[in-house]
Amino acid sequence: MKPTIHNKLATCHPALIRGRVWCTTCGSSQAVNPAECLRTGWPKCCGYTMTIDSPEERAEFKRKERPQ
Ligand SMILES: [Zn+2]
Repeated sequence: MKPTIHNKLATCHPALIRGRVWCTTCGSSQAVNPAECLRTGWPKCCGYTMTIDSPEERAEFKRKERPQ
C-alpha cells in the first residue's frame, strides 16, 4: 500500500499510534483506527468529537495552563 499523508501522520504522532479516543463529557473511551479517522473524521460521543488526549494528559494540560 502506498503511504498517504494520513498514514504518515498516524504513525508519527504518539497519541495517534495509541489508537484510542476519549469522550470528555462521559469519560468513555473507544479503540479507533487512527489513519481511518484522519481520513473520515473522529468518532463522536455525547454530541462532541472524541479526543486523542487521555484523561491523564488533559489533567496535565490544565495543570500547566494554571500554574499554582
Ligand atoms: Zn460520551
